[in-house]
Amino acid sequence: MARLDPLADLVAALQRLPGIGARSAQRLAYHLLKTPREEIEALAAAMLGVKDRVTYCTICNNITDVDPCGYCTADDRNPRLICVVEQPENVASVEKTRGFRGRYHVLMGAIAPLQGVGPDDLKIKGLLARLTEGVDEVILATNPNVEGEATALYLARLIKPLGPKVTRIAMGVPVGSDLDYTDEFTMSKAMEGRREM
Ligand SMILES: [Zn+2]
Repeated sequence: MARLDPLADLVAALQRLPGIGARSAQRLAYHLLKTPREEIEALAAAMLGVKDRVTYCTICNNITDVDPCGYCTADDRNPRLICVVEQPENVASVEKTRGFRGRYHVLMGAIAPLQGVGPDDLKIKGLLARLTEGVDEVILATNPNVEGEATALYLARLIKPLGPKVTRIAMGVPVGSDLDYTDEFTMSKAMEGRREM
């Protein structure tokens, strides 16, 4: 029988996290080994809290602890302006600019035929349903890479006949990148410089 190796198990588990390679996983594991027990307990509790208490907004699909989320219910946010992003973390990127006072719609991905992700795998139906409630503009803030562009084009074709103006964020954001890694100045410029599709 194989011997239990808690440290190796921890390294293996950490290595499954995005952006964590073998070396980082090992460094983190040794760091955790030296961390006081109460800090580890707080960390574990925070991780479980995310699983137990955080859910997805039934209107916009953003992560939230109340449903509908604060963005969907805020009175000082324009319900006639919707910013479409790929992932919940992209909402934070747009929020950092502090210039956007509309609402959001999270697609939960982008069209990526090579990975087997088609339009039906994304939260598009919910977006179209929201447009029947009177929307003036839909800002497509999908990532400036091949998948994000394909998704934006697909959505523009679908939404324009329904009436709202459809705009795409400016490509001050480096092409091929992810909005997550975009600083707030670049993101601000990308929103300000958006073009009609
Ligand atoms: Zn919401």
